[in-house]
Amino acid sequence: MNLQSGSYHWPTTLPVAPFYPSLEEDIACDVLIIGGGGSAAQCAYYLADKGLEVAVIEKGRIASGSTSANTALIQYSGEKMFTDLIHTFGEEYISRHLQLLREAIDDIEAASKTVEMDTEFTRRDTLYLASCKEDIIRLEKEFELLKHHGFELELLTQKEIEKKYPFSRVAAIYSYGDGELNPFRFTHALFDYAAKRKVRLFENTEMNGHHYDKQEKCMIIATKSGYTIKAGKVIFATGYEGTELKKEKKVSFVSTYTVTTNKVNDFSSWYNRTLIWETARPYLYMRTTADNRIIIGGLDENTTSAKDRDSMLMHKKDKLIEELKNMFPELDVKPEYYLAGFYGGTKDGLPIIGIYDEYPDSYFLFGFGDNGTVYSQLLAKIIATEILEGDSPNMALYLQDRPLLGEK
Ligand SMILES: Cc1cc2nc3c(=O)[nH]c(=O)nc-3n(C[C@H](O)[C@H](O)[C@H](O)COP(=O)(O)OP(=O)(O)OC[C@H]3O[C@@H](n4cnc5c(N)ncnc54)[C@H](O)[C@@H]3O)c2cc1C
Repeated sequence: MNLQSGSYHWPTTLPVAPFYPSLEEDIACDVLIIGGGGSAAQCAYYLADKGLEVAVIEKGRIASGSTSANTALIQYSGEKMFTDLIHTFGEEYISRHLQLLREAIDDIEAASKTVEMDTEFTRRDTLYLASCKEDIIRLEKEFELLKHHGFELELLTQKEIEKKYPFSRVAAIYSYGDGELNPFRFTHALFDYAAKRKVRLFENTEMNGHHYDKQEKCMIIATKSGYTIKAGKVIFATGYEGTELKKEKKVSFVSTYTVTTNKVNDFSSWYNRTLIWETARPYLYMRTTADNRIIIGGLDENTTSAKDRDSMLMHKKDKLIEELKNMFPELDVKPEYYLAGFYGGTKDGLPIIGIYDEYPDSYFLFGFGDNGTVYSQLLAKIIATEILEGDSPNMALYLQDRPLLGEK
């Protein structure tokens, strides 16, 4: 899959990234993690130092997939409002999901404090703007629901928004407890942590086949360079490319665009350097970075042709900068890095753990959706708990065949 194209800011923040050897022999392990992006790193983090032999293979370099395009707003709210998710799944189901999302953000923060490398994780408040008058009621309902579930947030009026920011909208939810990070550094930091705890990492090692050995009761994974890996369990953390190994009907893709600006000297007009997004679909979103840049993204297009996606990049780059200047006219911003990429979501709004008959003893981690980093943290923990303890009470919530309301 041609995941994305353009220029990348995150790798420049770690110019001498750790590197790992390629696999040059047959090996055996208790758990094999396939993929070297953020999701695989989150799995490796949970499985390190737990008395299991764990190996990781990545077909290219660590964090070279969609992890390097990730704008890394770390939020619990996603494209589908929780009020809508309750219609699909029911209140009890979504209340557990909300609790797990909150825990996943806490876990990302805890992991960032545990690892040796700086992941640039920072807690941030979020401003969720009503894009038009018609969305005020939906925003109010979402506010009431989240308040009821114990989330700390406020409903801002137009006047209150205008007091805090140089732009105006009819209403917004101002919420606490979200965050931001540098996904390239986060991924390297978690792998570095795992590698120092005996997890074996192999870059430039591509899986190109598999079968199940019934006698030995293990998966045999073949690599492109001709070696095999015997694994008791396999986690496919292969990102969007995982859908090429196993088609998943609940998944769909769009094309999306992001721009990272030059460094900005003065953020005094950007109240608390909040994460900002809106109720429109597709939506615009923005954040600031540790090195004082702005990332703005959105303007999604309904195409899965890489050629069509890329042909719109220059126009989208200009449009994103224009949108940013409309909101913060006094900021002197220029695009320094910009890219076009595929963006995976699920039709019902929840991420997926895929367990399929043709891949015995395996888990597909499809942390798809706007909050991929948070979802992947949540799913990685569930999969690790299942492997380490034989069962996870939360697994059923995210299986590909989860029960919809009325089917329970
Ligand atoms: C433009 C954009 C903006 C985003 N913004 C946000 C955001 O603000 N907040 C958020 O939470 N999420 C966001 N996301 C989502 C986030 O980027 C993803 O959730 C995250 O990057 C997924 O990481 P991953 O490890 O699953 O996938 P990847 O980073 O793609 O990693 C998968 C890895 O598997 C490897 N691989 C594939 N096949 C094989 C094979 N056969 N053998 C060996 N290795 C293989 C690939 O080389 C790749 O490195 C965004 C995504 C995009 C594209």
